[in-house]
Amino acid sequence: MSRTLRLLILSLVSLSFGLSSASFGSRSILRVISDNGDLHDYAVELNATNFDAVLRETPATYAVVEFFAHWCPACRNYKPHYEKVARLFNGPDAVHPGHVLMTRVDCASKINTKLCDKFSVGHYPMLFWGPPPKFVAGSWDPKQEKSELHVIDDGRTADRLLNWINKQMGSSYGLEDEKFENEHYSSNVSDVGQIARAVYDVEEATATAFDIILEHKMIKSETRASLIKFLQFLVAHHPSRRCRKGSADVLVNFDELFPSNSLENKQEENDGKDELGSFHICGKDVPRGYWMFCRGSKNETRGFSCGLWVVLHSLSVRIVDGESQFAFKAICDFVHNFFICEECRQHFYDMCSSVSSPFNKSRDFALWLWTAHNKVNERLMKEEESLGTGDPKFPKMIWPPKQLCPTCIRSRNQRNNEIDWDQDEVFKFLISYYGNTLVSLYKDKGFLDNDGIDSALEDLVASTNALVVPVGAALAIAAASCAFGALACYWRSQQKSRKYFHQLHSLKNI
Ligand SMILES: Cc1cc2nc3c(=O)[nH]c(=O)nc-3n(C[C@H](O)[C@H](O)[C@H](O)COP(=O)(O)OP(=O)(O)OC[C@H]3O[C@@H](n4cnc5c(N)ncnc54)[C@H](O)[C@@H]3O)c2cc1C
Repeated sequence: MSRTLRLLILSLVSLSFGLSSASFGSRSILRVISDNGDLHDYAVELNATNFDAVLRETPATYAVVEFFAHWCPACRNYKPHYEKVARLFNGPDAVHPGHVLMTRVDCASKINTKLCDKFSVGHYPMLFWGPPPKFVAGSWDPKQEKSELHVIDDGRTADRLLNWINKQMGSSYGLEDEKFENEHYSSNVSDVGQIARAVYDVEEATATAFDIILEHKMIKSETRASLIKFLQFLVAHHPSRRCRKGSADVLVNFDELFPSNSLENKQEENDGKDELGSFHICGKDVPRGYWMFCRGSKNETRGFSCGLWVVLHSLSVRIVDGESQFAFKAICDFVHNFFICEECRQHFYDMCSSVSSPFNKSRDFALWLWTAHNKVNERLMKEEESLGTGDPKFPKMIWPPKQLCPTCIRSRNQRNNEIDWDQDEVFKFLISYYGNTLVSLYKDKGFLDNDGIDSALEDLVASTNALVVPVGAALAIAAASCAFGALACYWRSQQKSRKYFHQLHSLKNI
């Protein structure tokens, strides 16, 4: 690789990951506002800098904004009530994640004076309710007749606030609700917007996949190369920024964690809990048990295997033409070596093996994966129907249904039910569904230059786990994505030279 390319890649990667650590600083500043700094707050602290960005990007359907002043005694007393409700909706252990984003703004902080004025805050605490985008660049005036923002006039205790929310949403959330209750979710398959919720699922599925790999000691001399290849793919194209960063961390340290000559012994000795066990591929705050998009109506249905499909499709729509064959191999080998469902990996492997010529176009690869998934759906449709093992609220179907993509289906043969697809439309739909809607700002370069928004989103990620936008790392690595094989090569050669340097150093010391 040329020296210039190496330098470019290295500086892009360090710049992007450097940006993220810089933004942690701003996050801790926000946390200082909290008056019980040692306790974890569930409500997201907003200020004039991050207000619009956080509310624009949250996948939640509604938001509550509490305007308060940190010196106000009534606000201090109200805080435990507000937090009791926020616990249900915010944070990695949220019981009902993704429905309501609970936030607060400290009006006693000078930076927020204008913001509080715009909402005509006349007493503390003052609570507003509305769809998050309506708060963006928004205002509220008591004389205004029509507004989608409402003052919550009966939220003085946790019970009353939750009752008020339940009335608005037609829900029946309770303060004592526990995680993993599935009755509140919606199974509206024709709602294109629902995929936006899969920002949680792609992270959880990736983390689960790697936990399984470690737990079952699946990294062996013969599977090592395919894991490295898949990690390279994730570094370049995973829709979640923190999964890209975590994959890069594992990749950089791979040789040290899994030296090829002592793999089996090492895993035996350590009972599978070796150094890689301490790596959290998507960060340690990754949601567990959320399955926002992939939540089944029963605990034993959907979840991980659905999440894995979403990861694979979202990767397939993010590549450029030159990466299609690499992507095909990376996915086929990953499923073959690391997907623990025996029947699934065998079927998938058969489909991979039946491909006779290499992929040259990203379109062809994305459509191949879509067809492969539909073949699985078709088979399972019959099986689940006869055995009654499917999720009654999510019956298998040939996808996408007309309600999701009206232009994808040209016609349907009445006799055998076969569909004549408009593949150009299907490809367009896949790009928009798994690319743009799943992580809405993936391609919005405008966000790169704005530190305020960057740190605001870091904040939202930390507080609600709603990872919304991959920022510096995404675009830096995307810039080098054609060369992402080379990028990993570079890292690995760096490692080798680092090892060589250490060896040299120890020799000198002898
Ligand atoms: C690689 C792989 C192979 C598998 N093979 C088998 C198998 O052989 N036998 C078995 O019993 N189970 C298999 N599974 C599991 C099975 O496919 C489902 O994941 C599981 O039954 C859960 O189904 P679900 O209803 O959540 O929807 P899933 O089929 O998991 O789909 C998840 C979501 O993807 C979208 N989707 C559906 N079809 C498509 C499509 N064609 N293209 C793009 N998006 C689509 C829909 O929004 C759907 O909700 C496999 C899973 C994977 C990841």
